[in-house]
Amino acid sequence: MALKIVDECIACGACEPECPNNAISEGPTIYVIDPGHCTECYGFYATQQCVEVCPVESCVEDEAHVEPEDALRRKFAALYPERAPVNTERWSPPGDPNARRTR
Ligand code: SF4
Ligand code: SF4
Repeated sequence: MALKIVDECIACGACEPECPNNAISEGPTIYVIDPGHCTECYGFYATQQCVEVCPVESCVEDEAHVEPEDALRRKFAALYPERAPVNTERWSPPGDPNARRTR
């Protein structure tokens, strides 16, 4: 599932450079995530980097874009046909209490 940014966002910009998929951009009032490019950091990091840096917990699961791990694997492959995903054995979905934070 892609993540989304909710209204509590204070538009600090911390998440934008951390996204490995360039899925985050500045919107008219708050930052926004392009669900077509968010892989939940699958293929890059063990955990969701925007979640880890956001100071106000504004990066949350987007129920309108639910994707199981298989779908994220296919999404990564479609976005990066020449690239092998990394850290997939350590990857955890958002909200996983057993996730090992990488920051
Ligand atoms: S979860 Fe990862 S890929 Fe998705 S918007 Fe956040 S940093 Fe980008
Ligand atoms: S890090 Fe959080 S508060 Fe800052 S722009 Fe991103 S979503 Fe908004």
